[in-house]
Amino acid sequence: MKIKIGIGYDIHRLQEGKKLILGGVQIPFPKGLAGHSDGDCLVHAIIDALLGAAGEGDIGHFFPDTDPRYKDIQSTKLLEVVMTHIRKKKGSIHHIDCIIIAEAPKIGPHVAEMKQILCPLLQVGPDDLGIKAKTNEGIGPVGQAEAIAALANALLVWE
Ligand code: MG
Repeated sequence: MKIKIGIGYDIHRLQEGKKLILGGVQIPFPKGLAGHSDGDCLVHAIIDALLGAAGEGDIGHFFPDTDPRYKDIQSTKLLEVVMTHIRKKKGSIHHIDCIIIAEAPKIGPHVAEMKQILCPLLQVGPDDLGIKAKTNEGIGPVGQAEAIAALANALLVWE
C-alpha cells in the first residue's frame, strides 16, 4: 500500500453573462467564471490534486481546452472521468481539503450543498472533504472580485 499526496490550484476570471458554478453548485451572482468548461475552479483544483497524487499530468493534459468535446462541459463530469481513472489504478481518496478564495459572493452558505454533490463523486464521507472559504482582503485581482481562485490537497491510498 502507498499513500500519496497531491496539490491543486486554479483561478478563473469573473465575467458577465455566465452562471457561477463552484463545487458543482450554481450560486446566484451577477457574474460567472470564464473558461472553456463551466469554469468551476474548485473542481479543477481538486482534479489537479487527484492527478498529482496519481503521479500524472494536470487537467489540461487530460482535457485539452482545444477539444470541442469539453466546451461548456460541467466540471463534475470531468471529475467523474478522473475518479474512474483513479479507481482503475486501484486508488481511493483518504481525505481532501480545499480553500476557495473569493471576495464575493459569500461561499459559506453553499458549502453543505457542494459537499452533497462532491462527496458521492469522490466516494468520501462529509468529514473527509474540507471546504473552506476566504476573501483576499481586497488585495490583487481576486481581492478586487475580478477572479475566484481555489486550492486543494488530496491524500490518496493506492493498493
Ligand atoms: Mg480551470
